[in-house]
Amino acid sequence: MSNAPIHEALVQSLEAIRDPQALIGEIFRRFGDRAAIGTSGQLTGVVMIDLAVKAGVVPRVFTIDTLRLFPETYQLLEALEKKYSLKIERVQPDPGKLAGMIREHGEYLFFDSKEKQELCCQLRKVEPNERVLGTLDVWLTGLRADQSAARAGTSRFEIVPQGAERRPLLKVAPLVDWTEAQLRAYCESNQVPVHQLLFWERDGWRYESLGCVICTTPIGPYEPRRAGRWRWFNALEGDDKECGLHVVRKDEV
Ligand code: SF4
Repeated sequence: MSNAPIHEALVQSLEAIRDPQALIGEIFRRFGDRAAIGTSGQLTGVVMIDLAVKAGVVPRVFTIDTLRLFPETYQLLEALEKKYSLKIERVQPDPGKLAGMIREHGEYLFFDSKEKQELCCQLRKVEPNERVLGTLDVWLTGLRADQSAARAGTSRFEIVPQGAERRPLLKVAPLVDWTEAQLRAYCESNQVPVHQLLFWERDGWRYESLGCVICTTPIGPYEPRRAGRWRWFNALEGDDKECGLHVVRKDEV
């Protein structure tokens, strides 16, 4: 067996744990602060925090604070910290790089082209995320198979290469097969703090996917889940829009 903390035998032993609460508890007991829940305030994130606390562990939790999040997102982070006596890490973009990008391309560069939107996401989201992943062996994500066509094939466990040294990192989606209705019911019956925008609705328009202000808009009754993200690119991109945090890494370790 490999001496690396992450290897196939580990995945096989964790795969045997079907119950998400038991799985999350086992991961934090084994890895401590080398494991963390990454959340943007979606229902899966808050449910994972609740399950971890119910499993008797104090989870490490982080969010990528792009400095453009909705006020409701910051309110949710505070509510979660209060309820679960946690400190959620707000991981922010590099201030120097951010200032340089704005100087060169302007504050609202994401309207200009797909390339500039990706540059903004890279700097505000992907780089800070990579910084946290550099401190982890296990990354617990809220990905679900029913979120979009691109995510339909999401696995519960995936070993991905991390950083320049391509170190094995275990990416776990404990709630991959949960539905939106299941999550909502869980939050209600367990009084889990939730993002207020996910419960906002007007004439059938609602939020299902949350990101930065401006780049996130509500979706209509017949629109796919991620149609509200970078709406001005919808004609180009269809349903499979991603910000770069969860791009499929085919070149597995
Ligand atoms: Fe920039 Fe918009 Fe991406 Fe946020 S979602 S990082 S504002 S392009």
